[in-house]
Amino acid sequence: MKIVVLDGYTLNPGDLSWEGIERLGEVTVYDRTPAEKIDERIENAQIVFTNKTPLTQQTLEKAKSLKYIGVLATGFNVVDTITAKKLNIPVTNVPTYGTTAVAQFTFALLLEICHHVWAHNEEVKKGVWTNGPDFTFWNYPLIELAGKTMGIIGFGRIGQNTALVAQSLGMKVLTYDEYQNKALENDSLKYASLDELLTNSDVISLHCPLLESTQGMINKTTIAKMKPGVIILNASRGPLIVEEDLAAALNSGRVAAAAVDVASTEPIKMDNPLMTAKNCIITPHIAWAPKESRARLMNIAVENLQAFLKGEPVNVVNQ
Ligand code: NAD
Repeated sequence: MKIVVLDGYTLNPGDLSWEGIERLGEVTVYDRTPAEKIDERIENAQIVFTNKTPLTQQTLEKAKSLKYIGVLATGFNVVDTITAKKLNIPVTNVPTYGTTAVAQFTFALLLEICHHVWAHNEEVKKGVWTNGPDFTFWNYPLIELAGKTMGIIGFGRIGQNTALVAQSLGMKVLTYDEYQNKALENDSLKYASLDELLTNSDVISLHCPLLESTQGMINKTTIAKMKPGVIILNASRGPLIVEEDLAAALNSGRVAAAAVDVASTEPIKMDNPLMTAKNCIITPHIAWAPKESRARLMNIAVENLQAFLKGEPVNVVNQ
């Protein structure tokens, strides 16, 4: 059985093993596959794994041997799942592997905004502390989170995990989700309407998926409803935010700071307005990527294929 991994590098740049998949067939792993090479590389494959390499209708119709597509991620919009279904090819994804990593990273972003750890470290190394008149100095406002309100938009796995961390720091949580499970509410965590969340939160963190209904949900109109000096975090998907509007609000000071792990186009373009906006931290879509989390992703991808080969497929997204 021929197995092809089209773009294995981001999952496994060398610190994990493909052994689990190799036990199941004859495997070829490509680090990356440019668009013009996709058809040729999967021509004789029965099993294909992709992370972000697109599998379009035309490609799938030409791949006559293909029996199974494993997406090495949660989001599976890179595959034309409708065509795959018509061709009787199950597409699987990896729904939960990075929940704790993404929640943790959300706080890496927030705590950096609150304390400017790296900037202070750099100034210390430059001698600013050594040569200063006092036993301490700080060059940015330092923010304590206890007692402040975090608004979490999208209260699924990552949103709930983020709320646990927020509460452990003494924050109150307001959350907005299309589906509410009131059993999750407690003294410091309540569901709210989107408007209530926007109006009352000191920090707003996005954890909903990118859908037609969520695209551009942070824009000049929603920003105008927020508290002046709000902090905005996005470790979900770039297009949830109208980046020009956020950049303008950062530059005017209406939004005090933002941190995003995702952008409207990835890799980010140099002329993205957030690249030059004031008080904006940008990281290259790394929230999912600690080794522990990637290892979990790899194991689940192997289990997905094993289950398919046993005739009991799991995590199929195009049933
Ligand atoms: P999940 O499916 O468990 O939770 C998503 C929640 O959003 C659900 O509760 C759903 O009801 C809610 N939702 C759907 N539509 C909504 C709307 N219009 N308004 C408000 N809420 C809505 O997903 P998850 O595992 O928590 O992941 C959340 C998102 O995080 C993913 O969609 C993905 O975009 C992102 N993500 C980012 C990284 C990264 O590396 N930065 C890694 C993994 C996931």
